[in-house]
Parts: sequence; C-alpha cells; structure tokens
Amino acid sequence: MPFAKLGLSPSITSALALLDYTKPTTIQKKAIPVILDGNDLIAAAQTGTGKTAGYMLPILEKLSYGQTQKKKRIRALVVVPTRELAIQVEEQTEKFSQNLPLTSLAMYGGVDSKVQKAKLIEGVDILIATPGRLLDMYGQHAVYFEEVEVLVLDEADRMLDMGFIDDINKIFDRLPENIQHLLFSATLSHRVRDLAKTVIIDPYEISIAASQASKKNIAQWLVTVDKDKKSALLSYLIKENEWKQTLIFIETKHGAAKLVDQLEKRGIKAEAFHSGRSQTVRAKLLEDFKSGAIQFLVATGVAARGIDIENLPRVLNYDLPFPADEYVHRIGRTGRAGAVGEAISFVSKDNFKNLCMIESRLGHLIERRIIEGFEPKKPVPVSILNYVPKHKRQNQNADNR
Ligand code: AMP
Repeated sequence: MPFAKLGLSPSITSALALLDYTKPTTIQKKAIPVILDGNDLIAAAQTGTGKTAGYMLPILEKLSYGQTQKKKRIRALVVVPTRELAIQVEEQTEKFSQNLPLTSLAMYGGVDSKVQKAKLIEGVDILIATPGRLLDMYGQHAVYFEEVEVLVLDEADRMLDMGFIDDINKIFDRLPENIQHLLFSATLSHRVRDLAKTVIIDPYEISIAASQASKKNIAQWLVTVDKDKKSALLSYLIKENEWKQTLIFIETKHGAAKLVDQLEKRGIKAEAFHSGRSQTVRAKLLEDFKSGAIQFLVATGVAARGIDIENLPRVLNYDLPFPADEYVHRIGRTGRAGAVGEAISFVSKDNFKNLCMIESRLGHLIERRIIEGFEPKKPVPVSILNYVPKHKRQNQNADNR
C-alpha cells in the first residue's frame, strides 16, 4: 500500500519518495488514518518500527491546511525524554516537511537557550522538546501554548522511568483542553495508562504485538561468560569476526571509560558516549559513528536512547539491560525498517533472573553460544519462561487477598 492511500498529500509523499520510504510500516498504516481523523491515540510501538513518521506525517498533513505559526506560538508539541531523541525527531520532521512551509525546532537543556528563544520568536510550527527545558522556557514566556492543536508524548514509558511525571503533569495543566493527544510508548503498562487517563478520555488504541516487536530481521544471540572475561571476549569477537560498526551498551559511565581503555590496550579504537560528555562532544561522536569514522561506540543506556542510525548492523549488550523492555528498545536500534541486524548479549551467572525476565518478555529463549576459550566457570542455568520476579509475586499475592 502506498503512502498516498493513507490520505497524505503529494507534498508529503514526494518527500517520502526522496527518503526511499516506499511503503508504510505496520504502525504507520494503523496510526496515520486514525490521527488524520482527529482521534486521540495511545500506541504501543518501539523505536525502530517507524513510529516517528507514524505520528509526524499526519501532523504535518493537518498543519499544512492551517495558518502557519505566530511569534512564540506553536501548533504541535512533541515531548520526548532526551535531547538525542529531540534532535532525531526534528531531523526527520525537517526531511518530511521539506516541501511544506512549516518549521520545526528541537529544544532541550544543557545548551544556552538564546538560539532556541530567537527561533521561537521567528516562529515555530512544531516544537520537539524535553520536559525540563520546555517548562523553563514556558516560565520565561519564551513560548505560549494557546495555539497548540496536537500534543505527542513520545517514549512515554521512558519519561516515567526518568522521573518526568511531575513535569508532564505540569505540561498537561498548561495546555489547552480540546487538543488532540497522541501517546507513544514501548509498552502500555499500568503506569503509562494511568498517565494517559489524566488527559485522554476515550483514546483509540494501537498495539504492535510482542512477536512483531521482537522482529524477525534481528538475529539475537547471547554468550554466557564470566564477568571478569567480558572485555577480553569482546576484543576477541571484534577481531575474530572482523566486526565493524557496533553500538555497545554498558551500565555505567565509569564502566564505559574503563572498557574503552581496555579495548584500546588491545588495539581497538572505541569512544565512550554518556551523559558526562558535553552535548557538543556527543553530537560529534554520533556524527563520526554514523559516518564510520568511529566503529565502536560504548554507550550508557540513557545516553544511547535517541541514537537512530539507519542500518546499524550490530548492537551488543555488554551489560544485560534492566528492565526487560529496555532490552527490546535496545535491540530495536538494529535491523531497522527492513534491514537485517544482529543483537548480542553477554550474560553471566548473576544476570540469571534478569535474563529470565527478558526471555519471558520475548516469549522465547535467545540462542546461546559459548565461545571456545571463554567457557564460563559459573554456568548460567536455562531460563524459566513466564518468570515472575519475587517482588511481583508478593504483590500478586497481596492483590489476591
Ligand atoms: P523510528 O521507529 O521512528 O525511530 O524509525 C526507525 C527508522 O526507520 C528510521 O531510521 C526511519 O527513517 C526509518 N523508517 C521509518 N519508516 C520507514 C518506511 N516506511 N520506509 C523506510 N524506512 C522507514
């Protein structure tokens, strides 16, 4: 089915053709008509499914019929958890709207606000912002909300995880009442639904099933290995398999710096990407990673959240992520929109419960490999699928009483 059949006009479909978007993804097929019809929507869809175009294309279509913005007034507001995601969404928006007289701006903290303020004065139709900076600018009367027609909360679950609930409620309070609300989240957990309920009465609901989320074009496998052998194993795999562009996820900033050192000692050049590095450095690292100038980026989960690189061949969980949804998010960085990717995880014995939760979430076991010379001294048992962690079991018992 072509994009035009979904109700998008030629100025948008011609921009999509230039981007080589030949046909809509599942979430786009489902979401675009619903949004064009003016419905409120809550959608479960991970990064990598094409969700950004899923909400942005119909927003552009609708905004293209109205008057363009006035000074400091915006017409669509997209709230995102991280500056990286703000930048990515804005970059995509710019490409989608290249034939339209609409303007967009990514607004986030950690940088001087002067340029952002000047852009808002020039006029912005679509503002993509992180919660803290948005409220800050609103408080300074740099932006007004009375002409907002549509609100998107992107990666809502992530925003809750990052403790943005109060900020989001404040944003809700300041927005006009009769606007269109669109909420996208990797999962529609109780917390996300509770958040949605505060402003959305009877939303349309779309869910991309877990089996589709755990996409077939991603080859997932894990290596069981003792904790103290992980860096040696990584160097071995990189050299042995001649791996190129790999995004490596690690738990802490300190761990990232240490791993970069360890890899360098073995002749592998890598860079650390985390919130301790300045925005300018992070932007440059991303650019170099995208261009291939850097092959190995060692990133903490939060920092890596917004990284969107087309056709990233491989992600590696050096540390196994928690919670299970984070695993699904991370593997979504590879095998994007039709490309084949590989997602590898290092698992040691103390990750056992976490692994059970991840495999239960996926609904299947992940293929296991043991690498010769790195056989674990402490083996990792085979997971129990449908694993319920102890604290949840207790809650369930309490609920049943
Ligand atoms: P998202 O889930 O919005 O982060 O998008 C994931 C990636 O898929 C991005 O790199 C998009 O540019 C790409 N993408 C989204 N929709 C399509 C499509 N219909 N055809 C080809 N690529 C797409």
